[in-house]
Parts: sequence; structure tokens; C-alpha cells
Amino acid sequence: MLNLEHEAGVWDSVLLEPLSEDAFVANLQHRFKRDHIYTYIGNVLISVNPYKKFALYSADLVEAYVKRGPFQLPPHIYGIAGTAYRWLNDRNEDQCIIVTGESGSGKTEAARIVLQFLVLVSGDRNESKIIKDRLVQANTLLEAFGNARTMKNDNASRFGKFLDIEFNFRGDPIGGHLTHYFLDKARITRLAPLDRNFHIFYQLLSGADIHLLKILKLQRNVELYAILLTENHQPTLSDDDDKSLFVYTRGALEVLGFTDNEIIDIFRVIAVILKLGNLQFVPCSNIDGTEGCSLTNDYELYDVCELLGAEPRWLQRALITHQIEDQIADLNAIDAAKLRDALCRTLYSRLFTWLVNRINDIIKGKTLGKRKELGVLDIYGFEIFDKNSFEQLMINYCNEKLQQFIVNSTLKEEQAEMIKEGLEWTKIDYFNNITICQLLEHEKHGVLSLLEEPHVQCDAAYLTRVEQCCAGHSHCLAADSILPLHSFQIRHYAGAVTYNVRGFVEKNRDVLPRELSRAMFRCDHPLIPVLFPEGNPKRCNPKRPASESFQLRVSLESLFKELHGRRAHHVRCLKPNESKRPRSFEMALVQHQVRYLCLLPTVQLWRTGYCLRLGYVQFVSRYKMVSGSTWPKWRGSPVEGASLILRSLPIPSAEFTFGRTKLFVRSPRTVFELEDFRRA
Ligand code: ATP
Ligand code: MG
Repeated sequence: MLNLEHEAGVWDSVLLEPLSEDAFVANLQHRFKRDHIYTYIGNVLISVNPYKKFALYSADLVEAYVKRGPFQLPPHIYGIAGTAYRWLNDRNEDQCIIVTGESGSGKTEAARIVLQFLVLVSGDRNESKIIKDRLVQANTLLEAFGNARTMKNDNASRFGKFLDIEFNFRGDPIGGHLTHYFLDKARITRLAPLDRNFHIFYQLLSGADIHLLKILKLQRNVELYAILLTENHQPTLSDDDDKSLFVYTRGALEVLGFTDNEIIDIFRVIAVILKLGNLQFVPCSNIDGTEGCSLTNDYELYDVCELLGAEPRWLQRALITHQIEDQIADLNAIDAAKLRDALCRTLYSRLFTWLVNRINDIIKGKTLGKRKELGVLDIYGFEIFDKNSFEQLMINYCNEKLQQFIVNSTLKEEQAEMIKEGLEWTKIDYFNNITICQLLEHEKHGVLSLLEEPHVQCDAAYLTRVEQCCAGHSHCLAADSILPLHSFQIRHYAGAVTYNVRGFVEKNRDVLPRELSRAMFRCDHPLIPVLFPEGNPKRCNPKRPASESFQLRVSLESLFKELHGRRAHHVRCLKPNESKRPRSFEMALVQHQVRYLCLLPTVQLWRTGYCLRLGYVQFVSRYKMVSGSTWPKWRGSPVEGASLILRSLPIPSAEFTFGRTKLFVRSPRTVFELEDFRRA
């Protein structure tokens, strides 16, 4: 059925004849087998993770893509990055590259390659060289602190990242800004079998020299640290790479301008988390008969306090007691262990936010004046595990919102414009996940909004509310006998996920008792008081911090508002198999992704659609010079002007369609030809 003219299959799926889902996937497979991992759908790039390294990326190839324009060369991520960079400079418009796909499909690799491309093509004048080095190092640093091995991916992003690079009028980078979204900090104190904690812990233990380990009061063995054991008490392992990656991480901190003292301070926080996680509490009875607890390994607490510059009495008191109004009461051993874990997670996530803020200060553009921006969005992919919790709901919510943005900005708006412009048009059907977004965000009854209700104080109460408000929704299953206990299910755009509500309310609220924040604020360690400003007794009436899900909703709203105003370029990553193997392409798995990513409707849109639309006035002012000497004498309406320009060019008229207010250009190749004529 598939007509593969070339050994390499079809470069652009728009040209597949006849078009069907089977033909589309077969073409991807045909290309994948021959190491062609990239394929276009018009100007959307599909990338299939090869799980092996080959010579696909080099400075020579970058140069070739810059010189020749993307559609004259085989599909490549350089083609997408090159178009974004060219449009930034030539059209003076802000750009964004949006990389999507499920966990392990290759988004972070793609984002890294885009950054390398931009570094190679842009100039080194003035401060640009330094800015470029810093952007690359910021990426390396955040990967060490924000990525971890999961069942799905050895280098899974555990935070969402939008890296915005600012360019001057010459196209040289002059600054940047990083925004991060919801860090999966739950893994600090709970690891599923086969998972690891964040890379930095293993890097530090295997890469630090004896001297540094001594300062940090650490030993090399991973198994000595409770937070590096999985939930079934198995040790997680260091990789061979951890040691060498530590050199890069440390190097990144240095290039970014962190002083030696600051670097040690950062590692001291990591050491504190490792040691704090080891504190063990046992139950004991108080004289008045109430249950309390005591610490069995005070030597760990002394080490922690020495690293923090804290008084052991204060910290111990803050960990094993709590204050209810003016009364101090003892915590039982279970609650003290919960508090210890909460402190570990808070320390880590605040250190991470502090790092991002410092990086932003360091990469901030210093030059005044007009600047253009090119942003790269790389978030965590959609996740389904055997056990799914609050973190998976946050991650899958991000993916749901991103899918909504893509569906809206491509399929929905494109079709609406065709109708508005009076073009002939066959409606294309696709699944619009807006109903799932509404299920999650509905102001009163959304799955996320219910978490904010004041009387929802425990997980059981939350589940009851979900059952009451969402059970009838076509994408939600709740209060159903087929579900495991304490859970509800959401049928996401990419598949059904069953969430266990255990820990939801606490994880969402994410507050530490005031005594613990106070104890942290009193530490001598220079960073810790900065991380716990609410512990300052002089701060009056500290506001209750926004919940995790609320913060995420607000930050995603502002992200998509920003992206809406930009020219978007899409890279859609596919995962060829679940076992991270090279040369294995599982048809059913790829087909499933092709379906939920709405790739076939995208091809259909491109086949009937147009890659560029420009208002007649804009078109005439941009391309009038290509009509040669006739132009200066010519007077008339912009539509007539546009048709005069087109008649002077050797491009088939079928490539253009005249709408009510805009001219539509069919294929990207024609756009590049127009640009070439303009430059000639
Ligand atoms: P997550 O959503 O979990 O963060 P991801 O989509 O960001 O996943 P990556 O971390 O980019 O996935 O890719 C997973 C692994 O696949 C990489 O660590 C690398 O080994 C391999 N890989 C991805 N893309 C490529 C590529 N273009 N060439 C070679 N290997 C790749
Ligand atoms: Mg990633």
C-alpha cells in the first residue's frame, strides 16, 4: 500500500499517497529502520527516539542547514531551529519551539540540540560568547538537580522548563530567562522500585574527592542513606557516569560564577538532606501517659546541625514537638518521621528554586534596547505508572494544557481562519481535550479546584468530593467498584490514569510548621535563612502560601498567554519502544502516540491547508522588490499588488490562494523560494 519512492521513505508525510494512519506509521518505521529519525508534517517535525548515538549532529551540518534552508535538506531538528532563528531575525517576531511527547520520547535531547544549534549559528560579539556559555551550563546544572531515573526514562525531567533566549538586532544572544514548573520533590523521600533520586545525590557521592566528602561529613556508599533506598528498601545504584558528570556539574557552577564558598554551601544543603533523611524516631511514653518519640541516632542530628550551623536542641525540638495554639505537644514517631521527610523535600525544592533564581540573575541581559526572544519549552512527558499520585496528576495536567494549546493554535484556529477568509474547506475531525481541561480546572467542581476547598482537610474528604462532583463526567471514573481503594481515574487524552489520593491534600498544601521554619531561619549557614524567610520572627503576619496546584495553574496560564503571542514551531517526539532499546519499533505503541498527538489530522490539515498567510498590505511591502523595475511606477490596491508580484515570479499559481483579507501560501518550500527571490 505504501508507495515509498525513495529508499529513505517519504520526507514529508503530507506527500504520502494514499494517506492513512497505517501508511503514516509504516513510513515512520521505514525511515527509522534506516536511521532517519526525523520526518516532517509540513513544518511540524516528528522525531522518533533512536536510543543510540549517531553522527546526526555536527557544526558542518548546522552550517549546511543555515545555508540551504530547511526544506532543501532531509528533515532535521536543525531545520526547525533554523527556521525559528531566521524568522526571529528576518521578521522580527518572537518565536517559540514547543517540544512534546511522552516520557522518554526525546524532548530534553531535542531541546539540548536546539540550544547547541543556536549557540553555533549566532555571533560571539561583545557579551554574547559569555551568555552562550552560561545558557549551556545552566542547562547542565538544572539537569543534575532536576532530572532523575524513572522506570520510563533514565534521565527523566522532573520539572518543566521554559528557556527564553534574548537576541539583539544582529541575532546575537544577549541574555535569557528560565521559568520552571512544578518540581517532583516527592521523590526526595519516596522512590518507586527501579527509580532513583535526583542525579545530584549520586554525582556528589561518587564524584566528590575525599577532602570534600570530609567537609560534608559524607561517605561514598549510596546504601548508607535512607533517601537513596527505594520504598521496598533496596539500594539505588550509582551509574558509571555519575562520577564524570559531577565534574560537569561542578564546572557548570563555576562557569556560572558561583564562588567556591557558594558551591560548598550548595553541597552542604545536599549533605544535610542525605543525613536528615537518616534520622530515626522511636515511640516513647511521657510521664503524663501521652505518646511521644525520641531520636535513636543523635550523631546524625549533630552532623546535620554542624552542617547547618544550627543548635541541635532547637532542631530536635522542632522535629519532635508541635505547637497547638500556645501549647507544646509531643509528636509520635510516625508524625515526627513525616515532618523530617517534609523538611527534606522543602529544603530540596527551595534550593532548586534558589538555583533557578540565581541562574536568572546571572543570564539576565544587561544591554538596554529592543530585543527579540526565542523560547524552548521542554516539560516532563505524560506519565502512567503502576501507582500514580499527586505528582503524576500535576505532570499530566501540564501535558493536558499543552495539548490544548497545540490543538487550539493549530487545528482549531487554522480551520476557523479558513472559514473566515472564505476558502474552500473540508472540516477535519480531531479530539479536542478541552473537556478534560475543564474536568480538571472547573472553577467550583474541577478535580484540582476541589483540593482548594476549605473543608477538604484530609484525603478521604477530597475523594468524597471528587466522587460527588466528577463521577458523572465522561472522562472521570470515581466511586466505581472496578477501581482500587482510595482512588479515582481520569481518562486523559493520552490514556486512562488511576490516581491514589493518599497524600494529596498535604502535598498540595505544602506548609511546614512555623517552629521548623523558625529553626531553619536561625541557622548560620548563609543560604538556609534565605530559603526560609517565613521563619523570620520579625516578619509580621506571613501570608499563607499558595498551594502547589494553584501555583502551577497560575504559572501555566501566564506561559500560554506568552506563547500565544509568538510564532510557534513544533517538535513532536515519539517513543519507539518501552524498553529503551535501539532498533526496536513497536507498531502498536507508536500508533497509540500518533493517535493521541492528533498527528493524522495535522497531516490532513497540511494537505488541504497552507503554511503561511499574510495580509495583502504586509505581503506587498515585504515582497514588492521581487517584481523588479515595474514596481516604482505602479499604483493600485494591495490585492492587485500581490497578484502583480506573483505573476512576475516563476512559481505555479496553484501555490497561492487569495482569501478575503490575506494571501495563503501552500507549501513551506514556496515561502523559502519567495525569501530567496527577496534576497537575490
Ligand atoms: P521525560 O518526559 O521523561 O523528561 P524526554 O522526552 O525528555 O522524557 P529524553 O530524556 O530527551 O526524554 O530522552 C530519553 C533518552 O533517550 C536520552 O537520555 C537518550 O539516551 C535517548 N535519546 C533521546 N533522543 C535522542 C537522540 N536524538 N539521539 C540519541 N539518543 C536519544
Ligand atoms: Mg525530559
